[in-house]
Amino acid sequence: MRMKTRLLVPGPTPTPPEVKLAAMQELIDERTSEFGVIYSRVVSNLKKLMCTDNDIFMFASSITGASESIIQNLFSPGDKILVASNGFFGERWIRLCQAFGLDVIELDFKWGNKIDNEMVKSSISNDPDIKAAICVHCETSTSMVNDVKGFCEAANGVLKIVDGASSLGVCKLKTDEWGIDVLVSGGQKAMMCPPGLSFISVSNRAWKCHLDSKMSRFYFDWSLAKENIDSSPSPWTPAISLIMQLDTAILRMLEEGLDNILQRHIVLGRMVRSGVQAIGLTLFASDSDVNSAVTAVILPDFIPADSFLKSLNLKYGIQVAPGVGELKNRIIRIGHCGYFDVFDILNVLSAIELLLYQYGYHHQFGSAVVAAQKVLVEEEGAIVSDLLLS
Ligand SMILES: *Cc1c(COP(=O)(O)O)cnc(C)c1O
Repeated sequence: MRMKTRLLVPGPTPTPPEVKLAAMQELIDERTSEFGVIYSRVVSNLKKLMCTDNDIFMFASSITGASESIIQNLFSPGDKILVASNGFFGERWIRLCQAFGLDVIELDFKWGNKIDNEMVKSSISNDPDIKAAICVHCETSTSMVNDVKGFCEAANGVLKIVDGASSLGVCKLKTDEWGIDVLVSGGQKAMMCPPGLSFISVSNRAWKCHLDSKMSRFYFDWSLAKENIDSSPSPWTPAISLIMQLDTAILRMLEEGLDNILQRHIVLGRMVRSGVQAIGLTLFASDSDVNSAVTAVILPDFIPADSFLKSLNLKYGIQVAPGVGELKNRIIRIGHCGYFDVFDILNVLSAIELLLYQYGYHHQFGSAVVAAQKVLVEEEGAIVSDLLLS
């Protein structure tokens, strides 16, 4: 019955047609002024999306590569760092810091709960040796979005490093206003590009730390990147095609407008949450508008989540993400960050309804779709009646 593949995972995400086409442009040398124009446009537009005037560095790597560059470029072995973690990606930061010999203070919170910024504050004020604090904005493994503004206030006095992999272009994220020293993100989530491109913003304060850092590094050395920043965007061959795709994607985003993008994601998130709850499923994280990049859902006890997802893909061509880490086989994660509209949501809800039924879970057919449509009508009510009048 299936003909198409539909990708609803929180990275990699679908790419719009013009972004696909951008990859097919003739390659140009990165040292030409033509590429220089594209590169500087990407950087200045990224600054708009990241709400920052800080320097931007781009890497040909997945987001973990740019994250690794942060540890290599800011610290020396033995430095004390606080990582506040409430999910798989927070725990990954702990492992990354430990891999480079940092002394990691782990502040672990229950998966699905928020980071308690009061505890961040007291840990930092009790230990003057702590140099930096790290947290994940949208914890993609649980769909929980942390209060980064509060985190930065709590970590006032130390460097603040934020993983915005799945929150940039979805959630309110004010790098300079909130005082984020280093923000890391990449192309394959809400930025609507294929994987392989990552970027960071670096404050002056972080740059000073970089100059004191004694960690070994080469490919990801920010100083080498900065030396070259005016002649060529990178000391190494940049991912030229991906940068052209990112350029196209960001132009599209700016045309839609950041506020409209955030509002669209809020509506998509509401539709998914009310849809799955209408057929008796449970959300893993809170039913809150801030959790708008991805929705983690607990299936009925007797349905193994991973088998369900396999069937969803095989039967209907719909790819939804599994749980990871301690949530493996316990939840499904419906991704809706980036190139998604309301009909993508109606599709996935409808397919989930059909498949749940086949797994022996009986519910009122159509309830999830109707609940999502109701959210949409509430949102669009005024617009629809205007159309009917004209
Ligand atoms: C996707 C993601 C990453 C990065 O992953 P890569 O696979 O290295 O691109 C990091 N942190 C969070 C929160 C993510 O969602």
